This record gives sequence, C-alpha cells and structure tokens, in this order.
Amino acid sequence: NYALGPNVSGWDEQRRRWLAQNKGFPATVPGGKPRILLVTGSQPGPCDNPLGDHYLLKSTKNKIDYCRFHDIEIVHNLAHLDNELAGYWAKLPLLRRLMLSHPEVEWIWWMDSDALFTDMAFELPLSRYDNHNLIIHGYQDLLFEKHSWIALNTGSFLFRNCQWSLDLLAAWAPMGPKGFIREEAGKILTAYLKGRPAFEADDQSALIHLLLSQKEKWMDKVYIENSYYLHGFWAGLVDKYEEMMENHHPGLGDERWPFVTHFVGCKPCGSYGDYPVDRCLKSMERAFNFADNQVLRLYGFAHKGLESPKIKRIRSQTTKPINDKENLDVKAKMSTTS
Ligand code: UDP
Ligand code: MN
Repeated sequence: NYALGPNVSGWDEQRRRWLAQNKGFPATVPGGKPRILLVTGSQPGPCDNPLGDHYLLKSTKNKIDYCRFHDIEIVHNLAHLDNELAGYWAKLPLLRRLMLSHPEVEWIWWMDSDALFTDMAFELPLSRYDNHNLIIHGYQDLLFEKHSWIALNTGSFLFRNCQWSLDLLAAWAPMGPKGFIREEAGKILTAYLKGRPAFEADDQSALIHLLLSQKEKWMDKVYIENSYYLHGFWAGLVDKYEEMMENHHPGLGDERWPFVTHFVGCKPCGSYGDYPVDRCLKSMERAFNFADNQVLRLYGFAHKGLESPKIKRIRSQTTKPINDKENLDVKAKMSTTS
C-alpha cells in the first residue's frame, strides 16, 4: 500500500514540546491570531500557452497582497516532492512536508493557482473552527444525500497542524499514485460519485469518497463551510462584479462580495480545459482587476475598467502624506466604500 512517508505518531505532543522549547517561534502572530501558512503551487515547467504563465504571476501577486494585509505567510511550490503524486495530487505530500517542517504554523491553507482572492478585506472566522481540523467549502446535502463529486472543493481548504491531519492525509493518498492505481481508482470513483465523468482519480473525488466511506472516523473534525466563499465557482461570479461594486463593499466574503473566485476547469496553463480559453482568460483578468482595485485604492489608483490592466489616479496627491490620514489605516479603509 502506498504511503506518503514514514509513519509519524505523537505529533501533537512533539509539536507541543517544540513550541515550549522555541518561544521565539510562537504558533500565534503579533496580535494574537493563530499563525497561518498559505500554500500554493504550479507545475515545474513553463505553461503550454505563455499567457498561462502571465496569469500564474497575477494569481501569485494576488495571493501575496492578501497575505501581506492579513499577516499570513506564503509558500509557492514548483517541485513535485513525490513523483508518484504529480499534478493535482502534489498538494498532499507538500502539505505533509510543510506541517512537519513548520511546527510553529497552526493552520496550513492550500489554495490552487487558479483561485484568486476577490475580497481583500475578508478575514477567516477562525474562532468558529476551534473544534475542527479540516475546513473546506461544500454542502452537507450534496455530500451525504447526493454523493455528488462536487460536494466539496479541494481548491481552497485549511488543515490544522496536528496528528489528525497527518492521519487524514495518509488515508487520502492511496488513490494518487500515477499510472495503473490512479486509473483504476478513477473507475471506482466514477461508479461511486454522482455526476463524475470517467477519468483518472483526482484528489477531490478521493477526499469525498474517503469522508463518505469513513464518515464516523473523520467527520466530527471536518467543518463544511458555505457561509462565505472559501471557494467560489467563477462562472456564476465574474459577470456580477460591477453589480457588486455598485451595491456592496469588500469584507462580506459571500455572494455580495466573494472571498475567493476559483477558475475550476479552466486550465490556463495546460492545453485542455472544460471552457474556451478566451472566456477563461477574460474572466481571470476581470477577477484579478476586481481584487487589484481593492489594493490600488489604498495608494490612490484604480483600474480603468475590470478588463483593463491600465490604471488611473482616483485621488489628488498631497504634500503631507503622514498627516493625510487617508493614506494610513490600510485595513480599516479597505472594507469601506468611498
Ligand atoms: N498543481 C501543482 N503542481 C502541478 C500541477 C498542479 O501544484 O504540477 C496545483 C495548482 O495549484 C492547481 C491545482 O494543483 O491549481 C489543481 O489543479 P487545477 O486547478 O487545474 O484543477 P481544477 O481546480 O480545475 O479542478
Ligand atoms: Mn483549481
């Protein structure tokens, strides 16, 4: 049976001892919030289409901005730590490796390269998750009643750094090894999950299968979140940004101002997606600029339109930048409209 690595046990106790001995590396950030590490990644080589690389850069810039505003650390991985788990499975060995290498990190947050933060002011309601170890966007009824293959989305989720999470990763991985195992597992998943097309095993279907087949074992520590868009499907959101800007403001995170817009099925870096490349790229440009306006606004600029990389000045310059309060208090300002 395939394993992600040597069995680690007693991690909670090991981590607790390490934290006690390394007071300079606390599991909280200044201000007292739990330390979060955001992890994303992309393939080791260039995209088939150079525009894909351009949008990877924009997506990384978007994540750096969000993390900078919210005291979150960020990792962008390009390596396949385990050749058996290449592609969308690469996040599993990576998350395990980072948890073990960073005992100071309390939450490790995976986010796909094709997912953008579109609400720069929204903060995770972490206190809600005190009793949970895996936080993932989805719907209980789609999972337990419909057995739908889109009941959960593995494009943006958080793991608490603990033994439970290592155990879950270990239980999640066995369908991942490429070739025969992944192909055969794909057949099982397609037979088991509603709406799933026939293709090799993917990490999302495998997680849904695991949680359905071992519900008693895992579910009491899994928080299925849908009160805001920890993951938001792009197709229903990208055409409504102007309307949102008209009626709402950042900081809401839900359908009024989505926290994350995820380009599921777009594959701007690879060759075969489920949607026309042009529609995907145009929509990604809109999402990026919608978010980037929330950043530029702090410095007195905005995009000329959601489809334009060009910007315009929205405030006159001042000779007393420090006195001019409007330049300061970045976070408070972000979630207000003006
Ligand atoms: N990915 C990676 N290394 C690779 C290929 C993919 O880290 O070699 C990551 C990348 O962040 C990508 C994610 O795996 O966004 C999942 O794949 P994708 O977003 O294409 O799947 P979808 O969301 O469309 O189902
Ligand atoms: Mn994705």
